Amino acid sequence: MGANRQKSVDFRGRYTPEAADAAVSGAEDPAGSRSHNLLLRRRASLMQEPVLVLNATYEPINVTAVRRAMVLMLKGVAQAEELHNSEVHSASHAHRVPSVIRLLAYRHIPQQSRALSRKNILLRDRNTCQFCGGVFPSSELTLDHVVPRSRGGRSSWENLVACCYRCNNGKGDRTPEEAGLKLARRPRPFTLHTSRQLMRLIGHRDERWRKYLFY
Ligand SMILES: [Zn+2]
Repeated sequence: MGANRQKSVDFRGRYTPEAADAAVSGAEDPAGSRSHNLLLRRRASLMQEPVLVLNATYEPINVTAVRRAMVLMLKGVAQAEELHNSEVHSASHAHRVPSVIRLLAYRHIPQQSRALSRKNILLRDRNTCQFCGGVFPSSELTLDHVVPRSRGGRSSWENLVACCYRCNNGKGDRTPEEAGLKLARRPRPFTLHTSRQLMRLIGHRDERWRKYLFY
């Protein structure tokens, strides 16, 4: 079944429903539940792959996940500029997975529009515990209030850092000084500059991003 699916991988071009139809192959594979489960698992991780988002002007503005990118394409908000070498199958179609999408209408991006969220703080800190310097998967990191909330520490860009559970437990309700811990760097708001740097960092993995990020 794997070989069957590979056939449509060479298809190149913009995403259209017709093109997706043309790429259909082996979607309704009757080959037992084991391979089906494998397929679903592969599909789940594929849907989390990063996709570069360009403004209508081709300016890189964000990184999103395949799942969200495909929703934007289906809504007609964005189109694929570069395609991934993989596809996902729905009941009746195979859809080529985008690697880079572009918004069809220009969107004004305010300089500091990044929402204060767990995801963005982990992104800013590059999934690195700011106390021990260890790099962890998101599931093994928590957010630490540098100045504890019990001491009036706020939930802000400047007071929240990525922290592994071990350091977080060790620190408890103390300041870093009291706990004998040192911050890797002073936490700052997520600026467009940080965001570009991160896009480049992620983009190093994907040749298809290069021409939009390195100029
Ligand atoms: Zn740590």
